[in-house]
Amino acid sequence: MSSAVLNEFACYSPIDSTSVKPTVLVVDDNPVNLSLLTQILEEEYSVIAEADSSQVMTIIAKTSVDLIVLDLMMPQVNGLEVCKSIRKGTKANATPIIFVTACDDETSEDDCWNAGASDFIISPVRKLTLLNRVKYQLALQEHNKALQEQIYIDSLTGLYNRRYLMEAMTRALLQAQRDTTQLTVIMLDIDYFKEFNDHYGHIEGDECLIKVAQTIKESLRRPSDIACRFGGEEFVCVLPDTNKQGALEVATRVVSHIASLHITNQGSPLDYVTISAGVAFWTPEVLNTNDVLRKADNQLYQAKRSGRNKVSAQDA
Ligand code: GH3
Ligand code: MG
Ligand code: MG
Repeated sequence: MSSAVLNEFACYSPIDSTSVKPTVLVVDDNPVNLSLLTQILEEEYSVIAEADSSQVMTIIAKTSVDLIVLDLMMPQVNGLEVCKSIRKGTKANATPIIFVTACDDETSEDDCWNAGASDFIISPVRKLTLLNRVKYQLALQEHNKALQEQIYIDSLTGLYNRRYLMEAMTRALLQAQRDTTQLTVIMLDIDYFKEFNDHYGHIEGDECLIKVAQTIKESLRRPSDIACRFGGEEFVCVLPDTNKQGALEVATRVVSHIASLHITNQGSPLDYVTISAGVAFWTPEVLNTNDVLRKADNQLYQAKRSGRNKVSAQDA
């Protein structure tokens, strides 16, 4: 990131009062410090003030927190342990954490960075320094989110893209191997879509793709299920911890939901838009992501050969 951009973040100006305020969690066992930090931050943010550090994990599990201001020395759980626990795979593991502490020795500072601190402020805190550091971290966070979206989201349909799929599949495979669970991949391809474009044009084709993508996404029910646009008019769903019966159920649901949209396609013998699905499984002894995709693709080919608007599944 260029220094010009960084400077723009660092230059403090009040936040637009019409926008939703970010939530800042302040944790400090000292009531005077807690009240001072809260008072300063409340001018710009929605603040949750907490004196008991053992409550932090419960708070972040229940509430969406945008940034955490953390004391270092606390009697219940010290700030370093809190920070490490948050960084260890909670949903808030990327949340900015700013340590505020009177411990100004090198070891304490090093410990905070090593625990996963985003920033470090030595108290007594100066109002503008705190506000600027918080604002800077929140802006950085926003930019990171926007960047992640550009990298991982397909701009036409809003589904995850192929890059995300490959990374998510690698993660899901490792998890499945650790848990010895079955993982399913469904590959989907719109039937006679070339004809759809030829009949109605590319703009209509794009609108059809958006509707199909939305329907695929809505057909998945578990939060851990992932829908991706693989490319063109092809989609892939990854279903962790799902056996053959469950996978067939989902694939059949997707295929029938697309058909029930009744989007006219005069280029198709069925007169409306349909989709075909190939289902493949990942058992612990199975190979890598590309092998599973290849198997799903083979099943998709079978579904196409057997008349389209169908599901074909690998033997479990
Ligand atoms: P099949 O039933 O065998 O799947 O035939 P098909 O016509 O769907 O498949 P084919 O692979 O021959 O053609 C895919 C077509 O999908 C080619 C192109 O016209 C269309 N397509 C791919 N990407 C896009 C896109 O982003 N927008 C639009 N509008 N069309 C696309
Ligand atoms: Mg295709
Ligand atoms: Mg097709």
